Amino acid sequence: MDFELSERSEAWRKKLQAFFDAEVLPRHRAWLEHVAGNGEAAPFMGDLQQKARAAGLWNLGLPELADSEPGTRLSNLEYAPLAEIMGRLFWAPEVFNCQAPDVPNMIALQNCATPEQKARWLQPLLEAKTRSAFGMTEPDVASSDATNVATRMVRDGDDYVINGRKWFITGAAHPHCSFLIVMGVTDPDTDRTRRHSCIIVPMQTPGVRLVRRLRWMGCEDHVAPIGELAFDNVRVPAANLLGAEGEGFKVAQIRLGPARIHHCMRSIGLCELLIELMMVRASERSAFGRTVIEYDTIQRWIAEARVELEQARLLAYRCAWRLDQAGHDGAWRDVSLIKVAVPAMLQRIADRAMQVFGAMGGSDDAPIHQALAWGRLLRIADGPDEVHLRQIFRMEPMPTWSIANSPYLSAHPS
Ligand SMILES: Cc1cc2nc3c(=O)[nH]c(=O)nc-3n(C[C@H](O)[C@H](O)[C@H](O)COP(=O)(O)OP(=O)(O)OC[C@H]3O[C@@H](n4cnc5c(N)ncnc54)[C@H](O)[C@@H]3O)c2cc1C
Repeated sequence: MDFELSERSEAWRKKLQAFFDAEVLPRHRAWLEHVAGNGEAAPFMGDLQQKARAAGLWNLGLPELADSEPGTRLSNLEYAPLAEIMGRLFWAPEVFNCQAPDVPNMIALQNCATPEQKARWLQPLLEAKTRSAFGMTEPDVASSDATNVATRMVRDGDDYVINGRKWFITGAAHPHCSFLIVMGVTDPDTDRTRRHSCIIVPMQTPGVRLVRRLRWMGCEDHVAPIGELAFDNVRVPAANLLGAEGEGFKVAQIRLGPARIHHCMRSIGLCELLIELMMVRASERSAFGRTVIEYDTIQRWIAEARVELEQARLLAYRCAWRLDQAGHDGAWRDVSLIKVAVPAMLQRIADRAMQVFGAMGGSDDAPIHQALAWGRLLRIADGPDEVHLRQIFRMEPMPTWSIANSPYLSAHPS
C-alpha cells in the first residue's frame, strides 16, 4: 500500500497552499470586518475568484467536468488535501467556487439535468455568476426520514404547482441565490421511495417567499445564509423537473454523497488549524509557574487530537478513493463511516481547543466556537448520526457460527 499523495495531487496541493498563503489568508481580517461584522459582500471576492480561476484553481470538487465546463479536473482523492486547506477558513471555498451547497447542486445537475437545464442553471454556477440552494427539510415532518417530505408538487398542464414549507435551507437567504432544487411529492399513491421528485424553482417565481433567515447555535452562515421558505401555489414549468418523476431520492442521493464527504474533508483541515491554535496558545501563556503546554493534560489533549485526526484523514482518503473507483453506490458505507467519525472528532477537538484558550475560546476573537457549532451541526445536517449508524449497523455481516459452536470460545461444559 502506498499512502503518499500522487505527484499530481501533491503539485496541486502545493499550488493551492501557495495561493491560500499569498491571496486568501492575508484578507481574512478584512473578510471578518466586512462580511461577518457588517453583513456586506466581501469587496475583493470577485477579483480573488478571477485570480484563482486564472491560476487553474477552479471548480476543484467536480471530478466529472465535461470538456465545455470550466475547471480543474481532479479526482475526489486528489481534491481531499485541497479541501483541507480551504477548510481552515469558512469562506475560503468560495474563492475557488468550491462552496456548499453549490458544488453538490452542480453534481446533481451534471448527472440529472437536460442539456437545456444545464445551459440555464449549471453553467452560471460553474462560472460563479449565481448561487443556489437545495430544499428538502420541512418544519412539520421529521425530515431525517426523507420519505416524510410532504411538500406537494401537482402536475397542471405544462406546469407543476408547488405548495409547502422548507426550513434550514442553506444558501436560500443569499442575495445571489437565483434558484433552488426542491424535493416534493408528485405521486402520493405509489411506493414511499417513488413518491418524490426534484424540481428547479427560480427564487423569483411568484409564491416563493423567504419567511426568515435562520442561525445555528447563534452563528450566521455568511457564505450561504440559511433560510426558511414558503411555497404558495408556486407554478414552474414541468421542463424544470430534474430527472424523471419519482426520482427525487435518486437526485438527492447523487448530491448528498459528495456533500457529506466534502464537509468532512474541510473539517479535517479545520481540525489541523485547531491543533495549531492549541499549540501556540498553550505555549504563549503561563499559569502556576509553568507554560500551559507543559501540563500533561494539555499535551495529552493535543496528542489525542492528532491520533483522531490521522485516523479520520485515512478514512476520508479511502472514502474519496472508493468514490473515484465505484461511484456513490460503491462508497456509501464509507460515506456514512466518515460522516459519523469526522463531525464527532471536530466537536471534541474544538471543545478541547476552547478549554485551552480559556475565555477567549468562546469569543468572536477566535474561530473556535464556530468550529464547535460546525461540528455539532454536521452531526445533524445531511442525515443525523443515528441514521448513518443505523445504516452502518445494517451492513455489519452476521458471523455464520453460533455462540455454542464457535471455534473462538472454549467448549461449554456439558
Ligand atoms: C445549519 C443547518 C443547515 C441545513 N441545511 C439544509 C439544506 O440546505 N437543505 C435541507 O434540505 N436541509 C438542511 N438542513 C436540515 C438537516 O438536513 C435536517 O435537520 C436533518 O436531516 C434532520 O432532520 P430534522 O431536523 O427534521 O430532524 P428529525 O428528523 O426530526 O430528527 C430528530 C432526531 O431524531 C433522531 N432520529 C431520527 N432518525 C432516527 C433513527 N433512525 N434512529 C435513531 N434516532 C433517530 C435523531 O437524533 C435526530 O437528530 C440543515 C440543518 C442545519 C442545522
